[in-house]
Amino acid sequence: MPRSASFIESSSALSAIAAENRSSPAPAPVSNMGAGPGAAIDPAQAAVSIRGLNKIYRRKKGGDKQALFDVDLAIGRGELFGLLGPNGAGKSTLINIMAQLVNKTSGTVSVWGHDLDREPRQVAAAIGVVPQELNIDPFFTPRELLDLQAGLYGVPRAERRTVDLLAAMRLTEQSDSYARSLSGGMRRRLMVAKAMVHTPPVLVLDEPTAGVDVDLRQQLWAYVRELNRAGTTVLLTTHYLEEAEELCGRIAIINHGKLIACDTTDALLARLDSKEIVFIVGGDLTEPPAALARWDATLLGPRRLRLRYRPSATRVGEILAALQAARVEVIDISTLETDLEDIFLQLTRRDDSDGAAKPAIQRGRVS
Ligand code: ADP
Ligand code: MG
Repeated sequence: MPRSASFIESSSALSAIAAENRSSPAPAPVSNMGAGPGAAIDPAQAAVSIRGLNKIYRRKKGGDKQALFDVDLAIGRGELFGLLGPNGAGKSTLINIMAQLVNKTSGTVSVWGHDLDREPRQVAAAIGVVPQELNIDPFFTPRELLDLQAGLYGVPRAERRTVDLLAAMRLTEQSDSYARSLSGGMRRRLMVAKAMVHTPPVLVLDEPTAGVDVDLRQQLWAYVRELNRAGTTVLLTTHYLEEAEELCGRIAIINHGKLIACDTTDALLARLDSKEIVFIVGGDLTEPPAALARWDATLLGPRRLRLRYRPSATRVGEILAALQAARVEVIDISTLETDLEDIFLQLTRRDDSDGAAKPAIQRGRVS
């Protein structure tokens, strides 16, 4: 993948910037794994700490819409963290509250130890947000846009890193072209550069690769990893399971405004891609048929056979065929649908509505 390789090389300037922006050098150990989404990270030490966050959009027509329900979330300093959920789950609402583009209804949010209500300016200084929509003024050049943004954040001229940021994002050649002449990929990179002008310790990316082609996606991933390695805490939202899996050390899953899981990527994938099925069989069994061993067959009773399988690897039809081959008569079948199974299906279903190239879920490493 020569393109991403050269991209990493050229982003060394950005690494230097990122390395400097850590106001607290030692990332807090991530100690809340498995202990619930918001547990155990001291808000003063966390990169992001969210407690009991609710958002109700008041609408004139159609009634109010509650987009977030009692969300608790803690992200440690130095993490590359994914907020995963299908469209409409509430991801942008959560990001936009952190970015102070949307007012929360209740709950507390703190970023890098600063409370959103008490220290909104410090919160703004601590995060850079790349929004879902690419809202770039077409009549400015990348250099002008970055200078303008630095001005907005009160970065003194002497401390501006416009040239370095442009180089890091491989936009040096385009520095003085109108933004309207940039390709989609260049615009995305410009948005990231814009979010980094004030060298925030936390970078938030809202669906960075939605609708983006495969090549560019690889480049963005390489870049996000590089930034994170250099010390920037990264929070990204995505509705691609594959993206969260590929990039993030920990993942929280949000569905219908509720956080339904938060765990290390490995633990979460194991939970997501696992299903139990119980067969009531026609005759008494003394042991599970050997042919079903690969599905962890267990007898719950003489006529109750439980199997576990990974929906990504096995179809129920295969199991039924194996039962038939083993001459086991099936009388009834029951499965337990959990929220996680439901969301797994939503996240892995191919959705062609926006016409973008979307790989089906991939289990292997991509790069
Ligand atoms: P996601 O980013 O996960 O796709 P959003 O946070 O954009 O989800 O939306 C969550 C829910 O809130 C959706 O049902 C959406 O329709 C609703 N919503 C988002 N923005 C507004 C708004 N400004 N007014 C009313 N409802 C909204
Ligand atoms: Mg969104």
